[in-house]
Amino acid sequence: MILILLGAPGAGKGTQAQRLQDKHGIVQLSTGDMLRAAVKAGTEIGLKAKAVMERGELVSDDIMTGIISDRLDQPDCEKGAILDGFPRTEAQAEALDKMLAEKNLSLNVVIEMKTDDEVLVERITGRYTCANCGAGYHDTFLKPAKEGVCDKCGGTEFSRRSDDKAETVKSRLEAYHKQTAPLLPYYREKGILKQVDGMAEIDEVTRQIEGVISSI
Ligand code: AMP
Repeated sequence: MILILLGAPGAGKGTQAQRLQDKHGIVQLSTGDMLRAAVKAGTEIGLKAKAVMERGELVSDDIMTGIISDRLDQPDCEKGAILDGFPRTEAQAEALDKMLAEKNLSLNVVIEMKTDDEVLVERITGRYTCANCGAGYHDTFLKPAKEGVCDKCGGTEFSRRSDDKAETVKSRLEAYHKQTAPLLPYYREKGILKQVDGMAEIDEVTRQIEGVISSI
């Protein structure tokens, strides 16, 4: 199964993708995580992406489609993939259609996580991840059971994204509305767009997503 989680930054795509990965064994492909790893490793792509990401703008379509195409060829994608953060432009959506056709794969569903911009700034500026396993947490909405200790791996080091600052979040939301939201009619016309309430509590969003998946 190939599914896309589509939504504004902070809509909860990463959180829900992790849960889907754990439950269904379908791998989460987060282009944001891949770019952050490339920046950290100092690769050519990382060097190109760093400044763009810090401005809250989008990395070029060619780079992104290349990354996803290579990633889908890896053996861990055999059962399918959850695309988290890709596609983000119409050019990427068209390139995805083409690459899936070439790989004899098909897109099963696009799940829009609907949110209001006002809540997103608080969500984004409060979030952090385990530096060891990448599990996501939030200062207010999703604390680890034991303060300072990761529920998943017991790690005690955490990190925050450098683009999760309030100033950058504004540009990222603008990029979403200008460049990514036009994908909603694109997928609606194909008849594969479903919606869940991204404003609901995390467990409720999971229930809604599971409902969508079991209906396809
Ligand atoms: P995310 O972790 O999905 O919020 O992505 C963080 C940043 O990585 C974005 O603000 C973009 O600069 C870049 N990025 C991630 N995915 C894409 C994509 N599909 N197309 C362009 N830029 C992307």
